[in-house]
Amino acid sequence: MRDVIIIGGGIMGLLTARELRKTGRSVTIIEKGRPGAGATWASAGIISAHGTSGSADIAGPPGLKLRTASYEEWPLLAEIIAEESGTDIEYRLTGVLLIALDEAEAQSIQEKARAREWGEAEWMPPGVLRGEEPCLSDELAGALLVTGGNLEVRKLGPALELACRRAGVEIITGCAAEEILSEGGKVTGVRTDAGVHEAPAVFICAGIGSRSVPGAVPRAPITPQRGQMLAMDARALGLKRVVLTVNDPYLVPRADGRVLLGATREFAGEDPRLTVGGMAWLLSEGIRVAPGIATCAIEETWCGFRPTSSDYLPLIGRGALEGLYFCTGHGPSGVGPAPASVRLATALYLGDAPPIDPAPYDPMRFA
Ligand SMILES: Cc1cc2nc3c(=O)[nH]c(=O)nc-3n(C[C@H](O)[C@H](O)[C@H](O)COP(=O)(O)OP(=O)(O)OC[C@H]3O[C@@H](n4cnc5c(N)ncnc54)[C@H](O)[C@@H]3O)c2cc1C
Repeated sequence: MRDVIIIGGGIMGLLTARELRKTGRSVTIIEKGRPGAGATWASAGIISAHGTSGSADIAGPPGLKLRTASYEEWPLLAEIIAEESGTDIEYRLTGVLLIALDEAEAQSIQEKARAREWGEAEWMPPGVLRGEEPCLSDELAGALLVTGGNLEVRKLGPALELACRRAGVEIITGCAAEEILSEGGKVTGVRTDAGVHEAPAVFICAGIGSRSVPGAVPRAPITPQRGQMLAMDARALGLKRVVLTVNDPYLVPRADGRVLLGATREFAGEDPRLTVGGMAWLLSEGIRVAPGIATCAIEETWCGFRPTSSDYLPLIGRGALEGLYFCTGHGPSGVGPAPASVRLATALYLGDAPPIDPAPYDPMRFA
């Protein structure tokens, strides 16, 4: 019998396990594949304090609150993860450029900047932008520079897994949770494809799998949103900052010289194949922003599934059963806002004062 079982070993499950283990709880993660290999692995790893792309604004002020609170935590958390795992997750505050493709976008972005929607921000007219990022198109109408950066998600998953194991978290891989078990309205454990695990508390952190765990009440209304993405060998471009456009795509320079170009947003079920249309859109829009990428070698292509809830807000907190908790449904923005989400979820389980108002994320809104 463990104190807590966590279903899913993505960023939410691993950070939750780590946090609860620190309080002395015995914790088991049940992961159907490999930890960190779901949406977390597929992510661009962009971290920003403010929602800057059209899609990132979807979750409105409550989404912004999670993002802002997490943004403050990331620098220290990245250092602690490095200490605990011996892995540099390449958290780098490069700055984020919100690009205006034309005059209308330039006006709208500057108006929002004047209203301080993005906190500290600096407008770069086209001439300045060209000097700062010569690989971007001459046709752009300027860009807003805001704080932010990115981290290497391919290192984050393994680093968190190692940190958890070293702290004494049990991680069972290749094991799928099939049902939440309960008696008299109280959670008693989880039935998996390899047997029953007993615990008085269960966290659902299963990304897109969160929607299909029988016995969970409420049932999380999560739809997979597919994102197709690619990585280029773009060392010659010299891109320094994350580049966002209002309606995608975006460019993300990694520490190793690769540049990511992402990502489509499609509700197309769970088909993991890349499509001709998706890749064509990415490449043509990417070249429009940074013409030099046309000569770059494509190193890798992939897609992932954003666990998107029906109101675009995550489910964080207690469900209808005693001992059932959710920390899932973060959709397009789950790496950046993870630290505050997990602190909120674990505070609610521990009975501590919630660090932010939990009401907007209450899973019971779907009951
Ligand atoms: C293309 C793309 C780009 C993105 N870019 C960004 C970005 O730049 N910045 C940002 O903040 N966010 C980004 N995101 C979103 C972010 O990746 C997700 O919101 C976040 O990773 C979700 O983490 P998670 O732990 O909830 O889910 P996941 O990482 O998917 O983890 C869930 C885990 O649960 C396991 N699981 C599922 N069902 C079961 C079951 N029944 N039993 C056992 N285990 C189970 C899965 O195998 C998986 O490992 C992006 C996502 C995609 C797809």
